[in-house]
Amino acid sequence: MKIHSFPRGGISFDDPTVPPRDSSTIAFLPALSVIPLAQHAGVPARPTVAAGDLVREGMLIGRSQGPFSANVHATVPGRVIREVSWKNAEGRICDALLIRMGGGFELLGKKETAYSWADLSPHELMRLITEFGIVEMDGAGRPIASVLNYEKTGKRDQSLVVRCVFDDPWLASDYALCRERLKEVVEGSVIAARTGRLNRIVFAVSHRERDLGRKLLSEAASYKIPSSLVITGSRYPQHNQREMELALRIYEKREGILLGSVVILGPATLAAICDAVKLRKPVLDRYVTVGGSAVKNPRVMKVRIGTRIGEVFAECGGFVDKPKRMATGSPFLGRAVIDLDEPVIKTTYAVFAVLGGQAVESRARNCIGCGECRAVCPIGLDPEELFKQMRPFRNGDASGPPGPSVECHGCGCCELVCPSRLPLSQVIAGEDSYAG
Ligand code: SF4
Ligand code: SF4
Repeated sequence: MKIHSFPRGGISFDDPTVPPRDSSTIAFLPALSVIPLAQHAGVPARPTVAAGDLVREGMLIGRSQGPFSANVHATVPGRVIREVSWKNAEGRICDALLIRMGGGFELLGKKETAYSWADLSPHELMRLITEFGIVEMDGAGRPIASVLNYEKTGKRDQSLVVRCVFDDPWLASDYALCRERLKEVVEGSVIAARTGRLNRIVFAVSHRERDLGRKLLSEAASYKIPSSLVITGSRYPQHNQREMELALRIYEKREGILLGSVVILGPATLAAICDAVKLRKPVLDRYVTVGGSAVKNPRVMKVRIGTRIGEVFAECGGFVDKPKRMATGSPFLGRAVIDLDEPVIKTTYAVFAVLGGQAVESRARNCIGCGECRAVCPIGLDPEELFKQMRPFRNGDASGPPGPSVECHGCGCCELVCPSRLPLSQVIAGEDSYAG
């Protein structure tokens, strides 16, 4: 079977501080959970409960404020203690409800009722997906209702692409989920395709995971929707939207299969869609990769949403030494964590803590002109040059360029290979206040 990949740049990345991905453990339930009202891209939900109220497991506690917002649910039963707010590393104010666990669980450990969805219309499926607050769980957290909006996408041939590409080792969590919940991933794909009126499912699997791809395809054969397997490259950023689309267009041309426009979703999102429609259940847990050089016992864990990141690290044995940096996501696209009380949310696929000396640390801050950054940029930009142009701009010099590069899609490859550890992608994308 041919491998279809984006044509240039990218990097292969192994990180020995990432835990093994072949199994997962279940984290303890949090005695105190912090449930943010914005676990999605867009407008925060409005709280439907107040301090002192009792909440049930899975109960709606934050109501969506329109198509670019999402419902939020309690992930444990208990009492709302108060609303809390904090400023995250990007300066954004986060509002959340603090819940002390107590009382009986209505979902955990109980026999699940499976509802038939075969006779539901796309509109009814969409209503359930929206009701249970499903968002893209391995991306920015776009509400699924805005992604699968068939009225917007028109009548062209369209395909759902199930992204099972693990080019970033920190996606070990989604790999574990895909193996452990393969049936739900496939059923969620069929539900998503019907909801968005997409007429084909394509399983995009990196070439190291061919066996997983075959299992997905074989499971999909029991549904009446055309499905196929695309083997992609495994160089990062293969799983990014643009690089994935490039690989799919190459596949389309070589194989003569018309995919039309594509909707790309990952396994965590699809399993959540299945749970919402079939079990009438919101997202309660997230598979999370926990690792980094500062963590004693890295592992993949199934963590209840709202669990504080400090507790997640503690369950992995704590730190070998004081970490220099903590972040959610991966070293490519990680977002700094400045407070261990910040919680795991729907989009948290990894949390890591590193000592000084690991790749994401120790910036020398002088370009040595090695050209590594140019070699890995998947869209052929010159990160060194863009960085130099942006530097006076960041320093407030009006003669600098008018703004960040519109072409750069922030994959982070250039930054990761730069031996001087310059914050290339952050500066090029206009996110960093670096003024070196
Ligand atoms: S972050 Fe931007 S400049 Fe750097 S490699 Fe990616 S696309 Fe190229
Ligand atoms: S990789 Fe870093 S040091 Fe090398 S040319 Fe690019 S910016 Fe300069």
